[in-house]
Amino acid sequence: MRRFHDSAQAAHAPVQELHNGAFTAYAETPARAEAILRAIGGAEQPADRGESPILAVHTPAYITALKTIPALWRAAGRPGEAIPYAFPVVGRRPLALSRVDALLGAHSFDATTPITPETWGAAYANAQTALAATHAVLDGERAAFALCRPPGHHAGADYFGGYCHLNVAAIAAQAARDTGVDRVAILDIDYHHGNGTQDIFWTRGDVFYASVHADPATDYPFFWGHADECGAGAGEGATLNLPLPHGTRAEAFRAAQARALDAITRFAPGLLVVSFGADTWEGDPISHFALTTGDYPVLARDIAARGWPTAIVMEGGYAVDALGANVAAFLSGF
Ligand SMILES: [Zn+2]
Repeated sequence: MRRFHDSAQAAHAPVQELHNGAFTAYAETPARAEAILRAIGGAEQPADRGESPILAVHTPAYITALKTIPALWRAAGRPGEAIPYAFPVVGRRPLALSRVDALLGAHSFDATTPITPETWGAAYANAQTALAATHAVLDGERAAFALCRPPGHHAGADYFGGYCHLNVAAIAAQAARDTGVDRVAILDIDYHHGNGTQDIFWTRGDVFYASVHADPATDYPFFWGHADECGAGAGEGATLNLPLPHGTRAEAFRAAQARALDAITRFAPGLLVVSFGADTWEGDPISHFALTTGDYPVLARDIAARGWPTAIVMEGGYAVDALGANVAAFLSGF
């Protein structure tokens, strides 16, 4: 399987995050990608396909914000990393405000995702990595792996959050659509619900989004991913949410994934994007499922058995010591 990664993705390396009421060491570290890279034996450098595939998913105002926030933060006399603290709650009218804190709040939904001067460059390289794997599949590979880091599925068209800035799965899916694939499916098997991906395709009937994740009644991102959310307008029925309780083991996870795969089979996509998170592993420090390393090849074989050309993008997984083995195990199932 072809694998892609750009070392420029490592430049985004915040020191701290606001977690459960206190500043703690940032969990989404470059060491995550290094561990995966070692375990899978290296990766190819992606080609540079420019900004247009990114702007096919994200708004120009949001991209400008990601690029300019670090300089505005410095100009405001702030040290360290830009972190939002005030948000336009549901129902506020859109306002074009210039103060950096208003800009941060208008383009994010949480305070866990610092923006540094290096964030844009790393996020851009991350998107190119996802595009490289997608184009490898479009060019005939059965499956390809994008070692994306930072993750992407919490980022919406115009917002960041949950360690995510550019939605790599959405950028991959949209690139496939723009290359002539009529229907694209995204299977999200990260521990957390991919709220950004769901939002981006909520009213679209041409991209099916199915997610198996921790019940948002107990877990981040709380406000998305409930079982009754199924899309709207032309996208009604093209979103499938399968929340699971703490302690979920392989048998229940595999059954939920099979339901998602059955729904995707009925949708009949020309290409599948898998948002793969290894934070479903039993020892993950911020998650509460109980999958083992040996479960990942089984889950991957179930996906591969459906036969769709498949681009796999890396999402979460925070037990760095086990991360490489878990990702390698998953990829071995293809
Ligand atoms: Zn996650």
